[in-house]
Amino acid sequence: MMRRSREGRPALALVPPLPPEPVAPSVSFCSHCGARPETTDTTSRVCRTCEFGLLLESAAEVAPAAGSAFLVLDSSLSICAVSAAAEELLATRETDAVNRHVTELLVPADAEAQGRENLAVAITWAARGDEGFRRAVVRPANTFGVRLTVRIAGCGPKRAALVVFE
Ligand SMILES: [Zn+2]
Repeated sequence: MMRRSREGRPALALVPPLPPEPVAPSVSFCSHCGARPETTDTTSRVCRTCEFGLLLESAAEVAPAAGSAFLVLDSSLSICAVSAAAEELLATRETDAVNRHVTELLVPADAEAQGRENLAVAITWAARGDEGFRRAVVRPANTFGVRLTVRIAGCGPKRAALVVFE
């Protein structure tokens, strides 16, 4: 005979279900042009807009807009990708920048001594899957007198840090 709760309903759920993990809505974007694919066709990771970049994913709140300047870095602070707009902003080519250390392109512009460490820590944490994002002020390594604000967040599918110029 089926057990019934005091209210008379069948007591089937003896163990309450775990609440679902909150999942931040994620979006796809191209590592080169920043375009967001209109279809969810996952048969190809190559961007259909520029036919050059690979599709990456990040939380919607930190994803770069189409045509914006951004970098993708791994947890050892090596450059993995440079968007087309970032190539122009930093006067470099992605093919020249890939695998170089971030400080060859960007240095902290904070006056405080801990600025350098903060930039490295923010990138490392983002590349390791830390949630949310941090902001830092940087300048191109080859240019003085320019201050650029970046937001630093995680991206994927292979865990990496996304550095978007604002
Ligand atoms: Zn593209």
